[in-house]
Amino acid sequence: MSASEIQPLLMVVDDETSNRELLRRRLERCGYDVMCATSGHEAMSLLDARVPELLLLDIRMPGMSGLEVLSEVRRTHTQTELPVIMVTAEPGSETAVLALDLGANDYVTKPVDFPLALARIRTQLALRRAVGDLRVSEERYALAANGSRDGLWDWDMASRRVFFSPRWKAQLGYGETELSDDPGEWFQRVHPEDLVRLQADIAAHSSGKAPHFENEHRIRRKDGVFRWMLSCGLALRDKAGRPVRMVGSQTDVTVGKTADPLTGLASRLLLVDRLERAVMRSKRDRCGLFAVLLLDVDRFKRVNDGLGPAVGDELLRQMATRLRNCLREEDTVARGAWPEDGMVLSRLGGDEFAVLVEGVRNVGDVLKVTERIRESLLEPCMVSGHEMTLTASIGIALSSEGYDRPEDILRDADTAMYFAKESGRSGFAIFDGAMRTRAVQRLQMEADLRHGLERGELELFYQPILSLADRKLRGFEALVRWRHPSRGLIHPGEFIPLAEDSGLILPLGRWIFEEACRQLSEWQDIADPDDPLTLHVNFSARQLVQGDLAKQIAETLHRYGVDTSRVRVKLEITETAMLEKSSSVQELLKRLGEMAVGVSIDDFGTGYSSLSQLQRFPVQTLKVDRSFVSRLPHTDSLEIIRTIIGLAHQLGMDLIAEGVETEDQASQLQKLGCEFAQGYHFSVPVDAKAASGLLEARYPRLLEAAATL
Ligand code: C2E
Ligand code: MG
Ligand code: MG
Repeated sequence: MSASEIQPLLMVVDDETSNRELLRRRLERCGYDVMCATSGHEAMSLLDARVPELLLLDIRMPGMSGLEVLSEVRRTHTQTELPVIMVTAEPGSETAVLALDLGANDYVTKPVDFPLALARIRTQLALRRAVGDLRVSEERYALAANGSRDGLWDWDMASRRVFFSPRWKAQLGYGETELSDDPGEWFQRVHPEDLVRLQADIAAHSSGKAPHFENEHRIRRKDGVFRWMLSCGLALRDKAGRPVRMVGSQTDVTVGKTADPLTGLASRLLLVDRLERAVMRSKRDRCGLFAVLLLDVDRFKRVNDGLGPAVGDELLRQMATRLRNCLREEDTVARGAWPEDGMVLSRLGGDEFAVLVEGVRNVGDVLKVTERIRESLLEPCMVSGHEMTLTASIGIALSSEGYDRPEDILRDADTAMYFAKESGRSGFAIFDGAMRTRAVQRLQMEADLRHGLERGELELFYQPILSLADRKLRGFEALVRWRHPSRGLIHPGEFIPLAEDSGLILPLGRWIFEEACRQLSEWQDIADPDDPLTLHVNFSARQLVQGDLAKQIAETLHRYGVDTSRVRVKLEITETAMLEKSSSVQELLKRLGEMAVGVSIDDFGTGYSSLSQLQRFPVQTLKVDRSFVSRLPHTDSLEIIRTIIGLAHQLGMDLIAEGVETEDQASQLQKLGCEFAQGYHFSVPVDAKAASGLLEARYPRLLEAAATL
């Protein structure tokens, strides 16, 4: 058998087609034979027929789970006979630990970092062969080692000899007979800055502190050039747990490590590596300061979704060039998704850049760099015929916080960026301890809100909407409140953004709509059938992309017996949400129209759209944002409102002015032709009981009624 014929057979078990196929293709490209199973049961029956050399097993699968498959497999095959690598979506989770307890050899997390997964697969296979080799012959093992595309090493602890495979030597530019089996052949070629860490990682695994050995380091080739190598290994231990042998692989990761393929900037790995070094240096000479700037392009997703990914890519490339140009040669600029399990959110990735600025003297220097970056981004750029002005939110973490690990710096820069984003566009924020406290408070509040929702602490208030012509009640806007057991009534501004970030807005939004319908079913009996009452319900952008939202709405209306000929329901959606999710919203609005549910555009004028962009949506009502109304009678504002009203009427929409606080504003709006209004001048949002009282008085003129509330 020649070396090139050795094609280890692997089995990939995953119920998700895309994951499975991607892994299969990539593994095949690396020279493996791959068989696939789409479920735990299929895997078990395939295993009956043929046993692969290694199993990649998804933990979460419907039917028979990965853990169940693992337990079954371990009844008949030991860890060395059939290594199993679990694929899990939750790094460091209890499930992963459980899997290791049940006899998994290792695990990788989703999304799978392929080079790392490959290195772990190779290590497991090498180990399996090495153990097999104890039974078979030395020669056979050497042959297997030859066949692999990666270098292999096998370190005999007792004799202090290392077998380096010919491929390992070739990776360093040496011939088969050139290097001895002295461990020094390896270590003396390692970059001095990487050596301590490499040896520490080996020691951590041999002593049992780390479950496996894994290290990236630079190594000098015969021609003097340094390459980046990923080295992974596992120890074989005697009964007392002492390592007798360590076996591992070496993968050349130079290309993937240094460059982001899209922009040519540093990759995440390289950044983390430089950060590690910066941390070490700053610990050594205490006066050196460095900073990490994390940049997130504001509204990038809109460009990407609206103009297509090719335009998005071009934009990122241009940004990369600008960033490079306004930094010094020795600063590192990288692109990618940062904290893998950050304390706050980790965003989708792609549109985030990180800058490592070294050798600064004080915060002032860092702020100068920040300012330079912001200025360079403010220049409009042309991408495929579109002129765009970009802004970015920048989070800054300074080494003076005393960091030990790159992940921590990135996490804090991410937290700071989150605050920068919140505080408005084009902003920046420097991380401080208070932010961490606030981030923790946010998490706490999120958990409280979840419980609050379960315990029925949420409540709807109703703000009257009236017609300006006769000042009579025409409907309400439902506004959610949280009756917190210790803090009292909390307004939505404090918890809706949180619910949106965490995804809690979906169950919360469902509850809001149900409660609104329940209330409507009561009100439809007292409402005037000739003058139907309209209830406006706010919907967040995230709720709109639920595939089954139209169905959910139809079912809820039906369940509570809401009769849409006696009362009307209108969804309030912001213009931004409408445009960002335009294709799903268009479909949704069509379905809503069919069931006589209306739509109004909330906070109109605060987003970046124009009415012409919105005319393709079937919308009946436009709500003029409070910020315009509150500036009345300022003439600028008057003109803007006049224009909005004119255009809206041309498009067949009616208007509601929000936040009317004075009689002057009300009468001006009326003169401009605005049909409806809501605001403190007429009534604050009131609880359900008070709202029912208003209805029972059969559409009073609101001013008088509100005075009695
Ligand atoms: P919005 O939809 O624009 O609601 C109008 C907000 O303006 C309400 O604040 C209301 O109390 C306030 N307001 C009304 N009249 C006046 C006035 O004359 N002067 C001033 N200064 N304010 C006035 P609220 O209830 O705190 O709600 C804030 C935002 O929270 C809402 O803005 C909406 O975006 C969101 N929200 C409220 N309820 C819900 C809900 O049930 N679902 C979702 N997704 N979002 C909600
Ligand atoms: Mg609203
Ligand atoms: Mg509004």
